[in-house]
Amino acid sequence: MHPDSNTVWDNCLIYIRNNISEQSFKTWFTPIVPLKLENDVLTIQVPSQFFYEWLEEHYVGLLRQAIDQELGMEAKLEYSVIVDKGNDENQPFTINLPTAKSGRPKRPNGQQQYSGNPFDLESLDQVHQKSHLNPQYTFTTFIEGDCNRLARSAGFAVAAKPGITSFNPLMLYGGVGLGKTHLVQAIGNEIKSNLSDKFVLYVSSEYFTNQFIEAVKNNKVQNFTNFYLQIDTLIIDDVQFLAGKEKTQEIFFHIFNHLHQSGKQIIMTSDCPPRDLKGLEERLLSRFKWGLTADLQQPDLETRIAIIQKKMAADGIDIPANVIEYLAYSVDTNIRELEGVVISLMAHASLTKRDIDLELAKQTLKNIVQDIDSEVGIDFIQKTVSDYFNVALDDLKAKTRKKEIVIARQTAMYFSKEYTNHSLKSIGYHFGGRDHSTVIHGVQSVNDMIDTNVKFKSSIEELKKKLKMRTV
Ligand code: ADP
Ligand code: MG
Repeated sequence: MHPDSNTVWDNCLIYIRNNISEQSFKTWFTPIVPLKLENDVLTIQVPSQFFYEWLEEHYVGLLRQAIDQELGMEAKLEYSVIVDKGNDENQPFTINLPTAKSGRPKRPNGQQQYSGNPFDLESLDQVHQKSHLNPQYTFTTFIEGDCNRLARSAGFAVAAKPGITSFNPLMLYGGVGLGKTHLVQAIGNEIKSNLSDKFVLYVSSEYFTNQFIEAVKNNKVQNFTNFYLQIDTLIIDDVQFLAGKEKTQEIFFHIFNHLHQSGKQIIMTSDCPPRDLKGLEERLLSRFKWGLTADLQQPDLETRIAIIQKKMAADGIDIPANVIEYLAYSVDTNIRELEGVVISLMAHASLTKRDIDLELAKQTLKNIVQDIDSEVGIDFIQKTVSDYFNVALDDLKAKTRKKEIVIARQTAMYFSKEYTNHSLKSIGYHFGGRDHSTVIHGVQSVNDMIDTNVKFKSSIEELKKKLKMRTV
């Protein structure tokens, strides 16, 4: 007599149960229903797509062993997934799970990856390892500079004693690409390496929100909350994303209070200071201010140089110091863009099989920097101004102190400061390597002339129009 699917599956379960924790067994294996056994193919039914993916990801080996033992190496396992509880329009579909040797099964066609909340199904044990931290984001790879010193040292203190310092919550804020995510993940990684028994979790506010929505849909809010209440260090990135999402804020408020009262560490980031966070409830904002708020600023030139050097060293690439300086001077918006430029330069060099030199760097940057300047670039300003005043373009960058050239040069500096994101240092660099105080002086002179000289003032107005034509 051939064994039936129930018997085979029961035996498989005995094997499986002996090999995993009771909690995991309950979560992942008791909901499975054996459907049929035909020609050495065992079909089991699982409650959702996500369930199937989870099994595939985590238990494929174990399932294989159990099946091998019961039915032999040639046997196969098929899953039948209940979609929408298998109503008429949505028939349950079947996925073949090939034998272990033939590799991992593909996702069933047309099925979206489950995007819901996995945590309500997982035991704490299982997620413990998964903090959603990128191991590359550490303190070692985070360059310190004036722009981030306070945030970094506060982060370091928190990492040494999570929940114990008065920096709770720790709120880091700053514009895009300035290192918020890197720094908070560095704190998370540091805590994990010092205190391996602590449950650290990094989530973006977007992820948190989606998980919550999914939990509401599936009547799992209690599980969702319980899960979060077990965390020792909760890192929640980009809280500005919670703006206007009242229900999510409410649950976050609840979680926040509980964790804070239990001496658990909370770390948050935002793209602006808490006082400017619009659409967040006052009671939540007031809690954000309980601990320490620190900002990340635009990196200065030295920090930018150090960041490029570090990145090059990490990638084992050598580029000349003058190229590094040029890049650091030219890209002063944020670190993400700086990294982007360095990567394009490396790509450019390898595609054209050229060494990285100043010439190549300039070529690569030409397009990118214009984008970064958003609307007008220094080059364009210099050209427009020199045409207007009828002086040679090169003279703007030369040492000449002739009056009409000085005025044109200062006017171009003035517009570079007004219309581009370049720092004073960087503007000086584009004017023949002058220092930032010369730029300040130039801008000041132009302002003075605007106030005192009607003719000059109207020249400035005309130039504005010319430059604006380019900006629209
Ligand atoms: P944000 O979250 O503020 O938008 P990220 O943390 O994503 O910024 O940083 C953007 C990129 O810049 C990342 O690749 C990050 O590693 C890098 N970065 C930012 N700050 C630093 C720093 N101080 N040292 C080294 N790399 C940095
Ligand atoms: Mg970020």
